[in-house]
Amino acid sequence: MELYELTLHELHELLKKREVSSVDATKALLSRIDAVEDRVKSFITVTPEEALKNAEEADKRIASGEMDLLTGIPVALKDIFLTKGIRTTCASKILSNFIPPYDATATARLKERGMVLLGKLNQDEFAMGSSTETSWFGKTRNPWNLDCIPGGSSGGSAAAIAAQQATATLGTDTGGSIRQPACHCGCVGLKPTYGRVSRYGVIAFASSLDQVGPITRDVTDSAIMLGAVAGYDPQDSTSVNIPVPDYRKALTGDVKGLRIGLPREYFIEGLDPEVKKAMDESIATFRSLGAEFVEMSLPHTDYAIAVYYLVATAEASSNLARYDGVRFGHRNQDARGLLDMYMVSRDEGFGAEVKRRIMLGTYALSSGYYDAYYLKAQKARTLIMQDFIKAFESVDVILTPVTPTPAFRIGEKANDPLQMYLSDIFTIPVNLAGTCGISVPAGISSDGLPIGLQLIGKHFGEETLLRAAHAFEQATEWHKRKASIA
Ligand code: GLN
Repeated sequence: MELYELTLHELHELLKKREVSSVDATKALLSRIDAVEDRVKSFITVTPEEALKNAEEADKRIASGEMDLLTGIPVALKDIFLTKGIRTTCASKILSNFIPPYDATATARLKERGMVLLGKLNQDEFAMGSSTETSWFGKTRNPWNLDCIPGGSSGGSAAAIAAQQATATLGTDTGGSIRQPACHCGCVGLKPTYGRVSRYGVIAFASSLDQVGPITRDVTDSAIMLGAVAGYDPQDSTSVNIPVPDYRKALTGDVKGLRIGLPREYFIEGLDPEVKKAMDESIATFRSLGAEFVEMSLPHTDYAIAVYYLVATAEASSNLARYDGVRFGHRNQDARGLLDMYMVSRDEGFGAEVKRRIMLGTYALSSGYYDAYYLKAQKARTLIMQDFIKAFESVDVILTPVTPTPAFRIGEKANDPLQMYLSDIFTIPVNLAGTCGISVPAGISSDGLPIGLQLIGKHFGEETLLRAAHAFEQATEWHKRKASIA
């Protein structure tokens, strides 16, 4: 096994026993990045000097005996997390020269634990998309098939794990952006409950939906990464002040008697037959482990996409108003007067998808339309949330596909926003409800592309979610399969 192939927990054991140093591991990852980055393009910025400096510090810390699970582990972050002194672009031209003066809380928490920062990962511009095709810095490719999208918006985070360019990564999930790319790249992706992880210093897309979470090689790593970043932060008023459990302790392997719901609305026509087959096999695996299945309904599922594209775009139009060329980011130098400067800078700085969202959101919020669109969407959102709360009175977790099909080809949906939006049908309701969800490898299509299984948990039900995902993973071999580029 090469050092770059190891899971976080495997590498941790080697570091702890001093069989390898963090500098060794970091060098292995950096040369791996060099070897495959031309083909995959997971990164916007690679930070080799920072990484080696962090690794040397980590080795000192290990030598002195004060070691955390994250100490010396090479990590890469979606380029939405502010990193002090390191360019953070959100994959947009408008922030292409932005160097943050401070760290996001998630960045800072990983640093305190001694992570090694390898660099900043590609994504859709402002996290708007499902394919990492809207980045101003170019497209990321799926390491399982370079003609396919890696998913999005955290496509770089998932591709880097699949191509073995980082030991663990962080992404963000507003409507599926952790779970969907994790699914398409054969990784584990966890969207925690809204309020579980601080978003301070994470560039805002839709503030009532955005959540931070890990993309990793296996469920144990997911539990470790969540534990490292979760918890109350006075800097984010939406973070919830409840204790962070030891998520690793939840991984008991025991799902006997676990009640798993199968929502009728998620097993629909149009589901790819190979995805359907993988779900059937997964259900059989859980049954053999002693779990029980319950058919159930989430009756307002049909409204989720429409609600999401009103709420998310309304919030985005407001969040993105700050990019005006005045304090930071791209500014047009030839504009005549202030208003012209705002307009030309924004016109030049934002890509087509971001502009589409700003226009949709501004429209939905405008007087005369607010009640018909935004307010109505908020009411429907409450109904969707109540569906989940009610469902969790009788089941412990809910099992669904992550996406209706495996990864599509680059360009296939790029000119058809509605088709792109519809591909998020199974992930979006979880964000609207604010609960947690995890994507776990559950099959490979006949074309050699990964298929993922989604487990949805109740609010702050991450321990049950991780326990179920871990038991499934241990009973199957899917997480051990490697992308063809690997
Ligand atoms: N694909 C969805 C969108 O385009 C979700 C993105 C996300 O979760 N950041 O908005």
